[in-house]
Amino acid sequence: MMRAIWWGGVVLTGVTIGSAGVSAAQSQTGASTVYVECGALWDGKAEKAVAQVRIAITMPEGKIAAVESHAKNMGGASGTTIDLSHETCLPGLIDTHTHVLLQGDITAADYDAQLLKESPEYRTIVATQNARRALEYGFTTIRDLETEGAGYADADLKKAINNGVIPGPRMQVATRALDVTGAYPLQGYAPNVAVPHGVQLVDGPEQARQAVREQISYGADWIKVYSDRSYFVREDGVLDDVPTFTLDELRAIVDEAHRERHKVASHAMALHGVHNSLEARVDTIEHGNYIADEDLKTMAARGVWYVPTIFVGDYVAKGRAEAGAPVWLKMVGIHEDTFRRAMKAGVKIAFGTDAGGFDWGIDPAKEFGYMVKWGMTPVRAMRAATSSAAELLGMQDQVGTVEAGKLADIVAVTGDPFSDVTVLEKVDFVMKGGVVVRKR
Ligand SMILES: [Zn+2]
Repeated sequence: MMRAIWWGGVVLTGVTIGSAGVSAAQSQTGASTVYVECGALWDGKAEKAVAQVRIAITMPEGKIAAVESHAKNMGGASGTTIDLSHETCLPGLIDTHTHVLLQGDITAADYDAQLLKESPEYRTIVATQNARRALEYGFTTIRDLETEGAGYADADLKKAINNGVIPGPRMQVATRALDVTGAYPLQGYAPNVAVPHGVQLVDGPEQARQAVREQISYGADWIKVYSDRSYFVREDGVLDDVPTFTLDELRAIVDEAHRERHKVASHAMALHGVHNSLEARVDTIEHGNYIADEDLKTMAARGVWYVPTIFVGDYVAKGRAEAGAPVWLKMVGIHEDTFRRAMKAGVKIAFGTDAGGFDWGIDPAKEFGYMVKWGMTPVRAMRAATSSAAELLGMQDQVGTVEAGKLADIVAVTGDPFSDVTVLEKVDFVMKGGVVVRKR
């Protein structure tokens, strides 16, 4: 019986991953060891990489058994060996802000077309491709922050990945997200025309609590809220907004989520959205184009995460300005100033891209170059996408570093990411849980 189940698992993984899969050499008991020999290894935390390292992985558990100096232990290993002796190995990358059910939404028309002309079923099929792309780019774990009108499809995608039905990263999902009436697309249609919305609309603390309960019951790991909208730059340069929820509503959402041991991610791009989110005790601030110094202090003191999503802001700015919202161009410069102030204030920063807000044909690893351009060191940017991101997800015991006891999520690149972080846009080896999903 056990044997049959074990084989089932291996067959599933092998088939879905495709011909690139390297199966473990098996001993008679079913357990085996896979060795990955790296020219250099960065473990996800240290200041520097270590040369010539061998990683031993126990299969079928897919966990790292040992990380050892390769020169010392050369020879004598029985099992499958993967030669990455000309590459730098790193922990599998983690993107803490994605939308696998979205295909880019520079303009309202792009967004409306997806919700009006594509069924949730079709969007889910496309999302399976996006999940596979994310994994092939090297993102072995993602936090997907709402389905943009595709209901609970993200919970099903996660289930299909976990069951070995389709390839994809480990996922934490937010399902439908929350906003108030009149604040979220689709908007601008005649009052007598019923249109879908990209979120679950709630008004008042009681409705908000009910929606949180509902979303958690259908598989939400995170509760996502949209805390502000309608951005404009004040004369003093501060990015102002219209806060969506009242503080009472926001507090009810966070209280209900925390009561059920779930965390809250807040889309907050400007002054009031960020401030109210912190007052209500959310766990992560998404985008944060403008954050007041006092709020940065609060974030640093309480350990609230900042997920800046820099690249997408630059990517959508021109198109949105041309569509009549020039504020998006100004927001890029304001964002850079905030990002630099956040680093100085000691705020915890995690890597997140808003992939799906731009087309999945673009590698989300582009974010690394933007973080470094705005003053972050390459090693800190890489930590943001590995050990720090794992901490944000509460998965630091499983992923985010390459060390004994962790899941064998490993990527590799040629070149030195410490001197040129953009080499992370060319990940050519990806292993998830000890199974190779990409090898060039
Ligand atoms: Zn987003």
